[in-house]
Amino acid sequence: MTSWNEIPYDIQQVISNTAIAPGAYILKFKKNNPFIAGQVLALGVTKDIEPRYYSIVSVENDELISILYTERVEGKLTPTLSLLKPGDNIMVSKPFETFTQVKPSPVFSVAGMGIVPFMSMLLSGKAKGATLIHGAHYPKYFYYSNILTNTLGVNYIRCCSRCQPGCLFVGRVTDFVKQWNDLDVNRPYYLCGSAEMVVETRDILISRGVPVSNINSELYF
Ligand SMILES: Cc1cc2nc3c(=O)[nH]c(=O)nc-3n(C[C@H](O)[C@H](O)[C@H](O)COP(=O)(O)OP(=O)(O)OC[C@H]3O[C@@H](n4cnc5c(N)ncnc54)[C@H](O)[C@@H]3O)c2cc1C
Repeated sequence: MTSWNEIPYDIQQVISNTAIAPGAYILKFKKNNPFIAGQVLALGVTKDIEPRYYSIVSVENDELISILYTERVEGKLTPTLSLLKPGDNIMVSKPFETFTQVKPSPVFSVAGMGIVPFMSMLLSGKAKGATLIHGAHYPKYFYYSNILTNTLGVNYIRCCSRCQPGCLFVGRVTDFVKQWNDLDVNRPYYLCGSAEMVVETRDILISRGVPVSNINSELYF
Protein backbone atom coordinates (compact mmCIF):
# COMPACT_ATOMS: atom_id res chain seq x y z
CA MET A 1 0.00 0.00 0.00
CA THR A 2 1.20 3.55 -0.78
CA SER A 3 2.53 5.60 2.15
CA TRP A 4 1.77 9.26 2.87
CA ASN A 5 5.45 10.04 2.05
CA GLU A 6 4.79 9.07 -1.59
CA ILE A 7 1.76 11.23 -2.39
CA PRO A 8 1.20 14.98 -2.17
CA TYR A 9 -1.58 16.01 0.19
CA ASP A 10 -3.17 19.04 1.87
CA ILE A 11 -4.28 19.43 5.45
CA GLN A 12 -7.98 20.28 5.52
CA GLN A 13 -10.42 21.01 8.30
CA VAL A 14 -13.53 18.91 8.74
CA ILE A 15 -16.68 20.94 8.16
CA SER A 16 -19.11 18.21 9.20
CA ASN A 17 -19.18 14.47 9.82
CA THR A 18 -22.77 13.29 9.99
CA ALA A 19 -24.22 9.81 10.59
CA ILE A 20 -26.87 9.06 7.92
CA ALA A 21 -27.53 5.41 8.85
CA PRO A 22 -26.08 3.01 11.44
CA GLY A 23 -22.32 2.99 10.80
CA ALA A 24 -22.53 5.22 7.70
CA TYR A 25 -21.29 8.83 7.64
CA ILE A 26 -20.94 11.77 5.28
CA LEU A 27 -17.71 13.70 5.83
CA LYS A 28 -17.49 17.21 4.33
CA PHE A 29 -14.52 19.51 3.82
CA LYS A 30 -13.55 22.41 1.57
CA LYS A 31 -12.85 21.73 -2.12
CA ASN A 32 -9.27 22.80 -2.87
CA ASN A 33 -9.06 21.12 -6.28
CA PRO A 34 -11.64 20.58 -9.02
CA PHE A 35 -12.72 16.99 -9.62
CA ILE A 36 -14.58 14.95 -12.22
CA ALA A 37 -17.55 12.87 -11.07
CA GLY A 38 -16.31 9.32 -10.49
CA GLN A 39 -12.90 10.32 -9.11
CA VAL A 40 -11.46 9.22 -5.78
CA LEU A 41 -9.04 10.76 -3.30
CA ALA A 42 -6.81 9.47 -0.53
CA LEU A 43 -7.77 10.39 3.00
CA GLY A 44 -6.12 10.03 6.40
CA VAL A 45 -5.72 11.46 9.86
CA THR A 46 -2.05 10.64 10.63
CA LYS A 47 0.88 9.31 8.62
CA ASP A 48 0.87 6.13 10.75
CA ILE A 49 -2.15 4.77 8.86
CA GLU A 50 -1.59 4.28 5.12
CA PRO A 51 -3.86 6.31 2.80
CA ARG A 52 -7.34 4.91 2.26
CA TYR A 53 -9.26 5.74 -0.91
CA TYR A 54 -12.76 7.24 -1.06
CA SER A 55 -14.93 8.13 -4.03
CA ILE A 56 -16.29 11.65 -4.04
CA VAL A 57 -20.08 11.82 -3.71
CA SER A 58 -20.42 15.60 -4.29
CA VAL A 59 -21.74 17.24 -7.42
CA GLU A 60 -18.90 18.57 -9.62
CA ASN A 61 -19.74 22.26 -9.01
CA ASP A 62 -20.23 21.93 -5.23
CA GLU A 63 -17.98 24.12 -3.09
CA LEU A 64 -17.43 21.28 -0.64
CA ILE A 65 -16.17 17.73 -1.07
CA SER A 66 -18.37 15.05 0.49
CA ILE A 67 -17.27 11.49 1.19
CA LEU A 68 -19.69 8.71 2.13
CA TYR A 69 -18.04 5.99 4.22
CA THR A 70 -18.97 3.07 6.44
CA GLU A 71 -17.22 2.38 9.71
CA ARG A 72 -15.37 -0.95 9.73
CA VAL A 73 -15.29 -1.85 13.41
CA GLU A 74 -11.97 -3.72 13.10
CA GLY A 75 -10.58 -1.27 10.54
CA LYS A 76 -7.58 1.00 11.07
CA LEU A 77 -8.94 4.29 9.74
CA THR A 78 -12.74 4.39 9.75
CA PRO A 79 -13.23 4.06 13.56
CA THR A 80 -11.09 7.22 13.86
CA LEU A 81 -12.90 8.94 10.97
CA SER A 82 -16.23 8.36 12.69
CA LEU A 83 -15.06 10.39 15.72
CA LEU A 84 -13.97 13.46 13.72
CA LYS A 85 -15.55 16.79 14.71
CA PRO A 86 -15.83 20.10 12.81
CA GLY A 87 -12.42 21.83 12.83
CA ASP A 88 -10.38 18.61 13.16
CA ASN A 89 -7.52 18.19 10.67
CA ILE A 90 -7.51 15.54 7.94
CA MET A 91 -5.00 14.67 5.20
CA VAL A 92 -6.46 14.83 1.68
CA SER A 93 -4.80 14.06 -1.68
CA LYS A 94 -5.79 15.56 -5.02
CA PRO A 95 -8.66 13.76 -6.77
CA PHE A 96 -7.50 11.08 -9.19
CA GLU A 97 -8.53 7.91 -11.06
CA THR A 98 -10.47 7.40 -14.19
CA PHE A 99 -13.85 5.76 -13.49
CA THR A 100 -15.16 8.88 -15.16
CA GLN A 101 -15.67 8.24 -18.87
CA VAL A 102 -19.28 7.10 -18.98
CA LYS A 103 -20.87 6.27 -22.33
CA PRO A 104 -24.57 6.95 -23.04
CA SER A 105 -27.25 4.68 -21.61
CA PRO A 106 -24.99 2.99 -19.04
CA VAL A 107 -25.91 0.16 -16.68
CA PHE A 108 -24.36 0.53 -13.23
CA SER A 109 -24.22 -2.60 -11.13
CA VAL A 110 -22.96 -1.71 -7.67
CA ALA A 111 -22.93 -3.06 -4.11
CA GLY A 112 -22.76 -1.16 -0.83
CA MET A 113 -20.59 1.96 -1.09
CA GLY A 114 -20.12 1.31 -4.80
CA ILE A 115 -23.12 3.64 -5.21
CA VAL A 116 -20.92 6.69 -4.51
CA PRO A 117 -19.35 7.40 -7.94
CA PHE A 118 -22.73 6.84 -9.61
CA MET A 119 -24.40 9.42 -7.33
CA SER A 120 -21.77 12.01 -8.19
CA MET A 121 -22.19 11.33 -11.91
CA LEU A 122 -25.98 11.36 -11.79
CA LEU A 123 -26.23 14.56 -9.74
CA SER A 124 -23.59 16.20 -11.95
CA GLY A 125 -25.85 15.62 -14.97
CA LYS A 126 -23.85 12.71 -16.37
CA ALA A 127 -24.97 9.05 -16.68
CA LYS A 128 -27.93 10.03 -18.87
CA GLY A 129 -30.32 7.16 -19.62
CA ALA A 130 -28.76 5.08 -16.82
CA THR A 131 -30.08 1.93 -15.21
CA LEU A 132 -28.85 1.34 -11.65
CA ILE A 133 -28.77 -2.12 -10.06
CA HIS A 134 -27.85 -1.59 -6.40
CA GLY A 135 -27.20 -4.35 -3.88
CA ALA A 136 -27.38 -4.05 -0.08
CA HIS A 137 -28.13 -6.34 2.86
CA TYR A 138 -31.06 -4.34 4.31
CA PRO A 139 -33.37 -1.51 3.06
CA LYS A 140 -31.72 1.08 5.36
CA TYR A 141 -28.47 0.70 3.40
CA PHE A 142 -29.97 1.89 0.10
CA TYR A 143 -28.54 5.38 0.52
CA TYR A 144 -30.15 8.16 -1.56
CA SER A 145 -33.05 5.88 -2.47
CA ASN A 146 -35.58 8.78 -2.50
CA ILE A 147 -33.54 10.74 -5.04
CA LEU A 148 -32.85 7.62 -7.07
CA THR A 149 -36.50 6.53 -7.15
CA ASN A 150 -37.57 10.01 -8.29
CA THR A 151 -34.82 10.32 -10.88
CA LEU A 152 -34.59 6.82 -12.32
CA GLY A 153 -38.05 5.32 -11.72
CA VAL A 154 -38.20 1.72 -12.97
CA ASN A 155 -34.54 1.94 -13.94
CA TYR A 156 -33.59 1.91 -10.24
CA ILE A 157 -33.44 -1.74 -9.19
CA ARG A 158 -32.74 -2.58 -5.54
CA CYS A 159 -31.43 -6.04 -4.74
CA CYS A 160 -31.82 -6.70 -1.04
CA SER A 161 -30.05 -9.87 0.05
CA ARG A 162 -31.58 -10.13 3.56
CA CYS A 163 -35.11 -8.81 2.92
CA GLN A 164 -38.40 -10.65 3.08
CA PRO A 165 -40.19 -10.87 -0.28
CA GLY A 166 -41.93 -7.56 -1.01
CA CYS A 167 -41.37 -4.68 -3.39
CA LEU A 168 -37.59 -5.17 -3.70
CA PHE A 169 -35.77 -7.96 -5.54
CA VAL A 170 -34.69 -10.46 -2.87
CA GLY A 171 -31.14 -11.60 -3.54
CA ARG A 172 -27.79 -10.22 -4.53
CA VAL A 173 -26.93 -8.11 -7.58
CA THR A 174 -25.47 -11.21 -9.19
CA ASP A 175 -28.73 -13.15 -8.68
CA PHE A 176 -30.61 -10.33 -10.40
CA VAL A 177 -28.22 -10.05 -13.36
CA LYS A 178 -28.38 -13.83 -13.97
CA GLN A 179 -32.13 -13.69 -14.62
CA TRP A 180 -32.57 -10.10 -15.91
CA ASN A 181 -34.92 -10.27 -18.89
CA ASP A 182 -34.07 -6.75 -20.10
CA LEU A 183 -30.31 -7.30 -20.19
CA ASP A 184 -29.02 -5.59 -23.35
CA VAL A 185 -25.61 -6.82 -24.49
CA ASN A 186 -24.97 -3.58 -26.39
CA ARG A 187 -25.13 -1.26 -23.38
CA PRO A 188 -21.96 -0.26 -21.47
CA TYR A 189 -21.70 -1.83 -17.99
CA TYR A 190 -20.01 -0.22 -14.98
CA LEU A 191 -19.34 -2.41 -11.96
CA CYS A 192 -18.29 -0.99 -8.59
CA GLY A 193 -17.84 -2.66 -5.20
CA SER A 194 -15.95 -5.56 -3.66
CA ALA A 195 -13.66 -7.65 -5.84
CA GLU A 196 -15.91 -10.68 -5.27
CA MET A 197 -19.04 -8.88 -6.52
CA VAL A 198 -17.27 -7.27 -9.48
CA VAL A 199 -15.63 -10.49 -10.70
CA GLU A 200 -18.80 -12.56 -10.28
CA THR A 201 -20.95 -9.96 -12.07
CA ARG A 202 -18.40 -9.63 -14.88
CA ASP A 203 -18.43 -13.40 -15.42
CA ILE A 204 -22.23 -13.50 -15.52
CA LEU A 205 -22.36 -10.62 -18.03
CA ILE A 206 -19.84 -12.37 -20.27
CA SER A 207 -21.76 -15.66 -20.04
CA ARG A 208 -24.90 -13.76 -21.10
CA GLY A 209 -23.16 -12.38 -24.20
CA VAL A 210 -21.91 -8.94 -23.13
CA PRO A 211 -18.57 -8.25 -24.86
CA VAL A 212 -15.65 -7.72 -22.46
CA SER A 213 -15.08 -4.33 -24.11
CA ASN A 214 -18.50 -3.19 -22.78
CA ILE A 215 -17.55 -3.96 -19.14
CA ASN A 216 -15.77 -1.41 -16.92
CA SER A 217 -15.05 -1.78 -13.24
CA GLU A 218 -13.72 -0.18 -10.09
CA LEU A 219 -12.75 -2.34 -7.11
CA TYR A 220 -13.18 -1.24 -3.50
CA PHE A 221 -10.65 -3.05 -1.30
C1 LIG B 1 -10.96 3.04 -5.46
C2 LIG B 1 -11.58 2.85 -4.07
C3 LIG B 1 -12.65 3.63 -3.69
C4 LIG B 1 -13.25 3.44 -2.41
N1 LIG B 1 -14.31 4.21 -2.08
C5 LIG B 1 -14.91 4.03 -0.87
C6 LIG B 1 -16.07 4.81 -0.51
O1 LIG B 1 -16.54 5.68 -1.27
N2 LIG B 1 -16.62 4.60 0.72
C7 LIG B 1 -16.11 3.63 1.59
O2 LIG B 1 -16.67 3.45 2.69
N3 LIG B 1 -15.04 2.89 1.27
C8 LIG B 1 -14.42 3.08 0.07
N4 LIG B 1 -13.30 2.33 -0.25
C9 LIG B 1 -12.72 1.44 0.81
C10 LIG B 1 -11.80 2.28 1.75
O3 LIG B 1 -10.64 2.71 1.03
C11 LIG B 1 -11.30 1.50 2.98
O4 LIG B 1 -10.76 0.29 2.56
C12 LIG B 1 -12.39 1.24 4.02
O5 LIG B 1 -12.94 2.47 4.47
C13 LIG B 1 -11.84 0.50 5.24
O6 LIG B 1 -10.78 1.24 5.85
P1 LIG B 1 -10.30 0.91 7.32
O7 LIG B 1 -8.91 1.48 7.47
O8 LIG B 1 -11.27 1.32 8.36
O9 LIG B 1 -10.25 -0.66 7.36
P2 LIG B 1 -8.99 -1.63 7.12
O10 LIG B 1 -7.98 -1.49 8.21
O11 LIG B 1 -8.48 -1.43 5.74
O12 LIG B 1 -9.69 -3.04 7.26
C14 LIG B 1 -10.79 -3.39 6.39
C15 LIG B 1 -11.36 -4.70 6.86
O13 LIG B 1 -10.39 -5.72 6.72
C16 LIG B 1 -10.21 -6.39 7.95
N5 LIG B 1 -8.76 -6.62 8.11
C17 LIG B 1 -7.81 -5.69 8.26
N6 LIG B 1 -6.58 -6.26 8.37
C18 LIG B 1 -6.80 -7.60 8.27
C19 LIG B 1 -5.98 -8.74 8.31
N7 LIG B 1 -4.65 -8.62 8.44
N8 LIG B 1 -6.54 -9.95 8.18
C20 LIG B 1 -7.86 -10.08 8.04
N9 LIG B 1 -8.72 -9.04 8.00
C21 LIG B 1 -8.19 -7.83 8.12
C22 LIG B 1 -10.74 -5.49 9.03
O14 LIG B 1 -11.32 -6.28 10.05
C23 LIG B 1 -11.78 -4.66 8.32
O15 LIG B 1 -13.07 -5.23 8.42
C24 LIG B 1 -12.71 2.49 -1.51
C25 LIG B 1 -11.60 1.73 -1.89
C26 LIG B 1 -11.04 1.90 -3.16
C27 LIG B 1 -9.84 1.07 -3.55
